[in-house]
Amino acid sequence: MASLGQVARHFRGLTRKGFSSLRSFSAGNRLNTAESGPGIGFALSETQLEYQETARKFAREEIIPVAPHHDRTGEYPWDVIKKAWGLGLINSHIPEKYGGLGLGILDTCIITEEMAYGCTGIQTAIEANSLGQMPVILAGNEEQQKKYLGRMMEEPLMCAYCVTEPGAGSDVAGIKTKAVKKGNEYVLNGSKMWITNGGVANWYFVLARTGDSSTSAGKAFTGFIVDANTPGITVGRKEMNMGQRASDTRGITFDDVVVPAENVLTAEGAGFKVAMGAFDKTRPPVAAGATGLAQRALDEATKYSMERKTFGKYICEHQAVAFLLADMVIGVESARLATYRSAWEIDQGRRNTYYASIAKALAGDVANKAATDAVQVFGGNGFNSDYPAEKLMRDAKIYQIYEGTAQIQRVIISREHLTTAKQAY
Ligand SMILES: Cc1cc2nc3c(=O)[nH]c(=O)nc-3n(C[C@H](O)[C@H](O)[C@H](O)COP(=O)(O)OP(=O)(O)OC[C@H]3O[C@@H](n4cnc5c(N)ncnc54)[C@H](O)[C@@H]3O)c2cc1C
Repeated sequence: MASLGQVARHFRGLTRKGFSSLRSFSAGNRLNTAESGPGIGFALSETQLEYQETARKFAREEIIPVAPHHDRTGEYPWDVIKKAWGLGLINSHIPEKYGGLGLGILDTCIITEEMAYGCTGIQTAIEANSLGQMPVILAGNEEQQKKYLGRMMEEPLMCAYCVTEPGAGSDVAGIKTKAVKKGNEYVLNGSKMWITNGGVANWYFVLARTGDSSTSAGKAFTGFIVDANTPGITVGRKEMNMGQRASDTRGITFDDVVVPAENVLTAEGAGFKVAMGAFDKTRPPVAAGATGLAQRALDEATKYSMERKTFGKYICEHQAVAFLLADMVIGVESARLATYRSAWEIDQGRRNTYYASIAKALAGDVANKAATDAVQVFGGNGFNSDYPAEKLMRDAKIYQIYEGTAQIQRVIISREHLTTAKQAY
């Protein structure tokens, strides 16, 4: 299997040639971008098709066969992760100067959907690296990026994003973990909860309060990079979750953990913006993961409905079952389009908060409906763990909870909508 790096290098060569000839055409014809732009297009580029094919093959050959084992045992999928790392299917957005591929968000969404089709528990373990790294990519200085992103390209390492606490998830400004400056160091105290990759991470992004109670949320928090082996860190037990059991979710306690000031991202007080800013780039891939799960539910239900007979005909020939499939198709197609749009917006360098929340909310709901309907199509077999549908239903639920619940996405969408409406009317 060609690695993503080989594919990227091959196509970057071709694209550069194509780009320069396009530029000379454009200049010669005195066309500006707006006039000569391609308008809406739905075709993936040759490079993207290659990424998709590589990830699809990997999911079919390396993820699907072992997914039931990891779901049953909760064993962390190190073997899969190491192979994916070797092919460049992890950390693909790390900039090229630190050894990564520097892929855009749309490219990563295309890869993520395919991997999630195989198992969203394994995909979430992989995706948590993107979430942990994104604050460093967005706000890290040269030394921080070189040290913490660079090391992830040298060997298969995981990292984690530590924001949620036992007492505060949606209400991020309610977190209580404190960081107090002492000389050229900060001392962290507090507890984080529901941290994906918590037990396997090499380093954490940690959000902690540095301001007092009178400081506004926008200035009260600071983002830190914290090495996981720093004294004073205690990693809790692996949580037994409803689904996505291959993923490692834990509580983490910080007890007088000393972090050098050089590990502060941007500056003291800038953490809230850094932590929240990451979501614009990570929600589209989460939506892609939910879309991959919905596509799998659709495929499994379709195959089953063409094999199972009742009342003398295949169940797909009963209109009630065919319409369940039609609803899944509507959901998958629209979730994918919303995901691509949200990724494309940020790749253009535009603020995509509105589109990222639409994609995340829609794809999360679509995944849950598709998985529940897949169980229905399977009948009694759908309720049994020898068949694929029940795992999909358990795995789907978290897409309406993590990276901002379904309700919080609607809070964001309505806020964005009403801000625009107030300007217009
Ligand atoms: C498996 C798993 C993995 C996770 N991974 C990570 C991770 O890697 N890093 C990390 O930092 N966090 C992680 N989380 C935490 C996750 O992001 C939070 O659970 C989520 O944001 C919800 O917060 P909460 O659980 O505190 O629920 P709460 O915020 O208490 O919400 C409870 C309910 O109230 C609703 N609600 C809350 N506020 C409002 C409002 N203003 N309007 C309408 N409804 C509202 C919510 O939608 C929800 O239905 C993970 C969680 C899980 C379960």
